[in-house]
Amino acid sequence: MLKNIILMGPPGAGKGTLAKQLKVAHHLVHISTGDMFREAIKAETPLGKLAQSYIAKGHLVPDDVTIGIVRDRLSQEDCANGFLLDGFPRTLVQAEALDKLAVEIHRPIDVVVNLDCDEKELIRRISGRRVCKNCGTPYHINTMKSKIEGICDVCGGPLFQRPDDNEEALKVRLGHYNHDTKPLLDYYKAKGLLVNFNSLVGSEDLFDEVSLFLKSK
Ligand code: AMP
Repeated sequence: MLKNIILMGPPGAGKGTLAKQLKVAHHLVHISTGDMFREAIKAETPLGKLAQSYIAKGHLVPDDVTIGIVRDRLSQEDCANGFLLDGFPRTLVQAEALDKLAVEIHRPIDVVVNLDCDEKELIRRISGRRVCKNCGTPYHINTMKSKIEGICDVCGGPLFQRPDDNEEALKVRLGHYNHDTKPLLDYYKAKGLLVNFNSLVGSEDLFDEVSLFLKSK
């Protein structure tokens, strides 16, 4: 099975939801740079204070900072049995740093799973997205409702709308995706690592398709 995985795709494509499903099913470590920044913001650490100024406006956190936190996390022992990188790399500088790091720590990337989704659908998904404040489980106000409105099914925590899921920040985030991140698809295609999936099929079908693919290799 392919176990060292990069998940790519625009904001709202379903990377976080898929990562949470794959993590449980295949015992992989989920490394989400967005989640790491949000935790640092909550804990009001110096990293959190720095990250907040970028994230609130939809901008990317500087490469050196982001590469540093991934380097620390990916080097930890629990990643030896496989990991899902969710939201990293987002720039060519990050991708090149990851190449070097992967060699250094003997944890080569096996596959890049890319989730395709059209922009209209991304905007629909993100504007209705709600997230649990405690455990991060994602919901949607129309298509993935919690059993009790505003309350997480998993942990009972309160659901909220991410501050960067507003229209203004979303435009900036999609701009960064198209300008900085999308070119990485060619980068990984040239390395023979890229596999595309259509994320419009729905989260359960997508999980089945990706799982089947990972296990077939
Ligand atoms: P996400 O939860 O992946 O949508 O990330 C939320 C925000 O965190 C992004 O809009 C960026 O501001 C920041 N962020 C997450 N990952 C990265 C990254 N690899 N490089 C730079 N900024 C990032």
